[in-house]
Amino acid sequence: MKTEKATIIVGGGIIGLFTAYYLHKSGRKVLVFDGSDGQDGCSYGNAGMIVPSHFVPLASPGIIEKGLKWLLDSESPFYIQPKLSMSLLKWGLNFYKAAAEKKMHLAVPHLKAISLLSKEEYRKTGQTDGLETGLTEKGLIMYCKTEKGLEEEAHTAEWANKIGIQAKVIDAKEIHVLEPNLKANVSGGVFFEGDAHLNPAILMKNLKTYLLKNEVEIFYNSKITDFEIAGDKVSAVMLGDKKFAVEDLIIATGSWSENMAKKLGIYLPVQAGKGYSVSLTQNNATEMMYPGILTEARVAMTPMAPDILRIGGTMEISGINLEKNMNRVRGIIKSVPAYFENLNIEMPERNDVWVGLRPCSPDGLPYIGLSQKFTNLYFNTGHAMMGVSLAPGSGKLIAEIINKRPVSMDVSGFKPERFA
Ligand SMILES: Cc1cc2nc3c(=O)[nH]c(=O)nc-3n(C[C@H](O)[C@H](O)[C@H](O)COP(=O)(O)OP(=O)(O)OC[C@H]3O[C@@H](n4cnc5c(N)ncnc54)[C@H](O)[C@@H]3O)c2cc1C
Repeated sequence: MKTEKATIIVGGGIIGLFTAYYLHKSGRKVLVFDGSDGQDGCSYGNAGMIVPSHFVPLASPGIIEKGLKWLLDSESPFYIQPKLSMSLLKWGLNFYKAAAEKKMHLAVPHLKAISLLSKEEYRKTGQTDGLETGLTEKGLIMYCKTEKGLEEEAHTAEWANKIGIQAKVIDAKEIHVLEPNLKANVSGGVFFEGDAHLNPAILMKNLKTYLLKNEVEIFYNSKITDFEIAGDKVSAVMLGDKKFAVEDLIIATGSWSENMAKKLGIYLPVQAGKGYSVSLTQNNATEMMYPGILTEARVAMTPMAPDILRIGGTMEISGINLEKNMNRVRGIIKSVPAYFENLNIEMPERNDVWVGLRPCSPDGLPYIGLSQKFTNLYFNTGHAMMGVSLAPGSGKLIAEIINKRPVSMDVSGFKPERFA
């Protein structure tokens, strides 16, 4: 047993690593354990968008009707695999409840506040300590193919402006000015100038390098299998038959968090939301300048350093597995020329498709805070479609909570046991 107590983080995705970053900065001895080899996973191949524009959670009015329609289409962007699973049924029921108008409105200020906090932290990191995030602040375009889609997006833009997030409805001509190389065949769009983007794999590499240089210990291929309890504390984590003594423990295990919490006797609903991406080299003639979202198709396109055009999408709730459903990938690829006439993308080989599992809470809000059951157990997980966007803010908040410092924002919406 390693007897010297340490602050232990289980999970070395972007949430675990940013948690380590802030806890280390607060003067703690930090160990991170990750079951993977630290080379891939949800935090690496995603679309890398930093999106204060996404202040409306997925669980919102109308999503159930859309979801039911999409269930019948194998190329659709959203899918829940019907199966007899108590975990899925309970999650689905909580998702349904969260999609009510009133509940959705309660979630909005929390999402907005953590998004803005997080973006500000992205701006600050690197300025004093050399952590290069690659943050590129250009904004983001929401493309609407249909008049109905544009109407819906214009409504979101109006709402955004009311709550202090700048959004501008733009027509095809204005889109052409922003994206002169693309022949956009759309009704219009919305430009969110406060959004940003980065290359997530480069950020992960830089974060690891920074942490290792600063004596944070990261153990890869190290799956935590169990916990030891002493009174009201988790006293140790078990790595096979090895034991590591815990001062404070943070669970940041993404899509695996429901199972981890269960081992500790806590109900924390998380379903894996599978998504795919394909990365191409930018072509000079059709070079895309701004990150964009094809709203009806729910496809994200990010031009990211160095010369990459990443196209990603789908939200497939089908359990924890990395099986690739090429029909859904086809749905993503087909949507691109429907929005941009001169961007014809070939269907990729299976091996060239990246797949990742988003950790989805039912209400679209993350779990950030102290558990009610143990006095030294914390959660930082459930960031769904916005883990990259929210990672620095979440890491900062959890460090403030653990160190019993004043918190940067109201965290009441993120209580880990809110569904218990
Ligand atoms: C197609 C796609 C596009 C996306 N685009 C964006 C975007 O543009 N912007 C954005 O903000 N977000 C985006 N996301 C979401 C984002 O990628 C996730 O929210 C984020 O990566 C989740 O990070 P995480 O650290 O919580 O989880 P993960 O990255 O999954 O990390 C969890 C880690 O825990 C480890 N683990 C699990 N169990 C154990 C155990 N028992 N012991 C030790 N380790 C364990 C796993 O090995 C894993 O490495 C996208 C996701 C997808 C799929």
